Amino acid sequence: MDFEPTAWSCSFCGRSGADETRYAAGVGALMCTDCLSSFSEAFAAPENASQRVLGWTDDSMSDADMLARLPLIAATAGQVDRYLRLWVARIRERHISYAEIGKALGVSRQAAWERFSRVVDPTKDGPASADSTNDSANDSANDSATDPSLTV
Ligand SMILES: [Zn+2]
Repeated sequence: MDFEPTAWSCSFCGRSGADETRYAAGVGALMCTDCLSSFSEAFAAPENASQRVLGWTDDSMSDADMLARLPLIAATAGQVDRYLRLWVARIRERHISYAEIGKALGVSRQAAWERFSRVVDPTKDGPASADSTNDSANDSANDSATDPSLTV
């Protein structure tokens, strides 16, 4: 999977990537190397030995800090959704049906198709094309060819 650091942001500090930015990738989340170092040091510190999670609490934040974090959380949620769509696109490149994708997500084939069938532009947060009419016919044909349960 090609990766362009400038098209993504750190899920922990919210900073946008630069050409030289490196990330540790999780399940839709990205951690820049600065945050990786910072969290490693914080977890190693004796005063944090009993902390189950670092960076989660709002106890020391002002109201302004709470509000300032809000758009970062929303941006992270959008980025995770974009990653999910890219992941599904990669699955579709393997000719795996929307029935199987829906099953993996615990939703119907139709729900999976409605959510993921639009073309994904990796530089945008949303679908690049709203023209799903042709996609629907092609995907239905592809699903019928690969998913025997749809041919009954
Ligand atoms: Zn970061």
